[in-house]
Amino acid sequence: MLRHPRTLCPMCRAEAVLARITPGPFGFDIRTFECPACKDVHQLVADLVDPMKSPRTTGWLHGQLHAPT
Ligand SMILES: [Zn+2]
Repeated sequence: MLRHPRTLCPMCRAEAVLARITPGPFGFDIRTFECPACKDVHQLVADLVDPMKSPRTTGWLHGQLHAPT
């Protein structure tokens, strides 16, 4: 099992919960987090490729997304 580092909600700094991991293009995966405190939903892009071969591109995609219905 991989240990996931704690991801804090950008809105309220509570600990966000990893809701799902979606495979993305270009060797990235998109991790969707939900905040249990303020219900903020945000995504983090993590690269799956060898970090020696790619620049650091991890970052926040969107500050806020609409929850699926
Ligand atoms: Zn929050």
